[in-house]
Amino acid sequence: MKIGVLTSGGDAPGMNAAIRAVVRTALRRGWSVAGVRNGFAGLIGGSFVSLGARDVGGIVERGGTFLGSARCPEFREEEGRVRALRHLRQDGIAGLVVIGGNGSQTGSHALCQMGFPVVGVASTIDNDLCGSDVTIGVDTALNIAIEAIDRLKVTASSHERAFLVEVMGRDCGYLALMAALAGGAEAVVLPEIDVEPDVIAADLRASYERGKAHAIVVVAEGARYDGEALVRYFREHKGRLGFEPRLTVLGHVQRGGRPGASDRLLATRLGAAAVEQLARGGHGVLVGTIDNRIQATPLGEVVAGKKTIDRDLLDLARTLAQ
Ligand code: ATP
Repeated sequence: MKIGVLTSGGDAPGMNAAIRAVVRTALRRGWSVAGVRNGFAGLIGGSFVSLGARDVGGIVERGGTFLGSARCPEFREEEGRVRALRHLRQDGIAGLVVIGGNGSQTGSHALCQMGFPVVGVASTIDNDLCGSDVTIGVDTALNIAIEAIDRLKVTASSHERAFLVEVMGRDCGYLALMAALAGGAEAVVLPEIDVEPDVIAADLRASYERGKAHAIVVVAEGARYDGEALVRYFREHKGRLGFEPRLTVLGHVQRGGRPGASDRLLATRLGAAAVEQLARGGHGVLVGTIDNRIQATPLGEVVAGKKTIDRDLLDLARTLAQ
């Protein structure tokens, strides 16, 4: 049997470890593996490369994805997916592992519905994917965010200045909330829970009044008031609010790190589990971890669901900011 493996959407630290696990567990079964270059674009263009055990050596410690990833609008159209199917069949590929986030697994689901066996592996730094409590890349991205927050705290304390730190996550506030908790921020702004800038200003003022020398606000990029919008608001109302916070947008810095132990282990376990699923004929599912156990969730459920924020953790972040 021959299977394909691809990485799609935003790259996430640990994707390489997942590819390696897919390849080596498949080889152990006596299967062969085709790596697909640049996500769904490589499927549509028939860009396949044969992967042996040595081809995936020395990548477990590297961030990004050595197969390349891409956003591919053509795959959203049936015509694009028909071309992809033609290449898969011409190449004798009988099953596919898709390592990626929400959009990518929507693509996996669409391909499955056209009759092709696909297993998804939960991988995105946004952690916005149902079917896995955490996804590959989140932990490393979070560590990068808190390292930045730690550093900003030092300079904020020296100058008694307020800092806004914008983190990634698209429409999901997970990364922002966890970074705020682990980094000890004074306030957090999430896409899921709308907050007015005046409330944030009041939080900052209160933290100075409690004797703090610094004030850090973690802002999710998907919030109604993102970092730039907040800076604009604070500038326009400086007289009344009395603050002009500095903005640091972490952006893609969060993606490119060396994967930490948690992400390597998660990616390794999920990559191997994806191959086991294909072997069992259990396609049309996403493999992820729920309550620390590897679980397979139907892709239909995964793409229809929406991950919610844990309000208890938000309350805890507020309690600990005192
Ligand atoms: P991340 O959130 O980490 O960036 P992602 O997988 O959510 O990862 P997207 O850009 O949303 O990233 O999706 C990646 C690719 O998945 C798209 O470029 C497209 O090729 C495919 N895709 C997304 N939505 C669909 C859809 N509705 N039908 C088919 N394919 C899709």
